[in-house]
Amino acid sequence: MKDTTRKLIEADRKYVWHPFTQMADWGACEPVIIESGEGFYLVDTEGRRYIDGFSSLWCNVHGHKVGKIDDAIRAQLERVGHSTLLGLGQVKSIELAERLVGITPEGLNKVFYSDSGSTSVEIAVKMAYQHWQNRGCRKRKKFIALVSSYHGDTIGSVSVGGIELFHGIFRSLLFETFFVPSPHPYGFDGSAQECKEDSLNKMEGLLKRYGEEIAGIVVEPLVQGAAGMIVHPQGFLRGARELADKYKTLLIVDEVATGFGRTGKMFACEHEGVRPDLMCLAKGITGGYLPLAATLATDEIYESFLGHVSEHKTFYHGHTYTGNALGCAAALASLELFEENGIIESLGEKIGIIEEALKPMKSLAYIGDVRQCGMMAGIELVKDKASGESFESEAMVGAKVCAAMRAKGAMLRPLGDVIVLMPAVAMGVELLKELLCIVSDTVENDLPGIVRGV
Ligand SMILES: *Cc1c(COP(=O)(O)O)cnc(C)c1O
Repeated sequence: MKDTTRKLIEADRKYVWHPFTQMADWGACEPVIIESGEGFYLVDTEGRRYIDGFSSLWCNVHGHKVGKIDDAIRAQLERVGHSTLLGLGQVKSIELAERLVGITPEGLNKVFYSDSGSTSVEIAVKMAYQHWQNRGCRKRKKFIALVSSYHGDTIGSVSVGGIELFHGIFRSLLFETFFVPSPHPYGFDGSAQECKEDSLNKMEGLLKRYGEEIAGIVVEPLVQGAAGMIVHPQGFLRGARELADKYKTLLIVDEVATGFGRTGKMFACEHEGVRPDLMCLAKGITGGYLPLAATLATDEIYESFLGHVSEHKTFYHGHTYTGNALGCAAALASLELFEENGIIESLGEKIGIIEEALKPMKSLAYIGDVRQCGMMAGIELVKDKASGESFESEAMVGAKVCAAMRAKGAMLRPLGDVIVLMPAVAMGVELLKELLCIVSDTVENDLPGIVRGV
C-alpha cells in the first residue's frame, strides 16, 4: 500500500464519521479511498479500477468526468457559483424549472428546489399539510405510507418512512402516520395481483375510516428501493392514484430513486400514466454530480398558497443552497445528454440483457428471489430457499458477497442480504455485460463458500 493511502486511511478513521455505518467495524476492514472517476469506473488511491455497479449510490447517470457536464459546471463557475432564490431569481434555476415542467407528467407546473431527496420529501409533506390548512380543511393532517418505505432521513421524511431498523429508534420524535403493507409478492400467500389488491384494499380501509383526516398518500412508485428493491405488481400505483381521487386526497410520488430513466422510462409514473399531485426528484437530477433536488406541484396546490401576506398562506420554507446554480447547470447538461445520446431509447436492450443474466440466478442455492424493474435489480440471499428463511444479520452475507465482487473489480453495495444492481443508465452494453458476469460468477461460485464460512 502506498504511504499516502495509509495516511489517508488513518485520517479517515480518526476524523470521518460515515453514514449508515457501524464505525466500530470500520477499523477492522481496509477502506477503499476513491480518488477519481473515469466514465463508469471508480479509481482508488492505489490505482485500482472498479466498475461503478451502484451508480455511486443510485445517482450517477452518464458516468464520471463527463465532458459536457464538467464544461457546464465550469462555464457556470465563470459566472457565479451560488446566489440565493430567497428574493432573487437565478438564470439556471429558471431554465431548469422550465425543462423539468416540460418532461414530468402533465399538471406539475411549479418547481420548488432544495438539496437532497430527504428535503424534497420533507417539502412535499409540508406543502400537502399546509395546502389543506390554507384551504380550510383543517382536519387533513395525516399521511398514509407503505410499510418498508424509505423517503430520506430528516424527521418529516422519516415519519413517512417504514423501515424499522432505520426509523424505530426515532419513533417518539415522529408524527403519526398510517402504514399499509407494501405490495411485495415474494412471500405473499397468493398471486401478484392478489397481493396488489390486498394492499389497495387496506389503503381503502384506512381512507374509508379516516378519509377526512388524510392529507396525502406517499409512495415510491413501482420500486421500494431501500426496502431491498421491492417491485410492486403492475397497477398498484394507478390504484393508489384512483384511491387518492376517490377520497379527494393528494398523491405524493417520491421519484428520488426511480427518476431519470432508472425504471426504463424517464419517470416511473409514466408506466401507469399516473399524474401525481406532488413529485419529489433528487439523486439522478444532476447526473449524480451535485446535491440538488426539486419538489414539483400542481397549480391547484400552488394556488392555495396565494393570498395577502396577512393571511399567512406563504410557504415559509427554504434552504440556503436552494436552487444552487452549479447544480442547476449540471442538471441542464444532464438532460441534454439524455436527448443527444438517446438514453431512454437505449434502455430496452440493456434491460433485456440484465433480465437474461438474472434469469439463471433464480434457481441457484441461497437465492430466494430476484427482482428487476428496468435498470434497478435486487438479488435476495436467503439461508433456506424453500422457506425463505433469512440469514442472521450479523453474518453479513450480503456485505461479504459484495466484498467478493469488489475484489473482482465491481463496486456494489448491498441492502442487508439483498445485492443491489443499479448500473448507470448510460452504461454501454459491453461494460454492462462485464459487470453482470462478475455478479453471476460471484453468486454462483463464491456464495456457497461464503455461506459455509459464516
Ligand atoms: C435516497 C432516497 C431518498 C433520500 O435522498 P437523500 O438525497 O439521500 O436525502 C428519498 N427517497 C428515496 C426513494 C430514496 O431512494
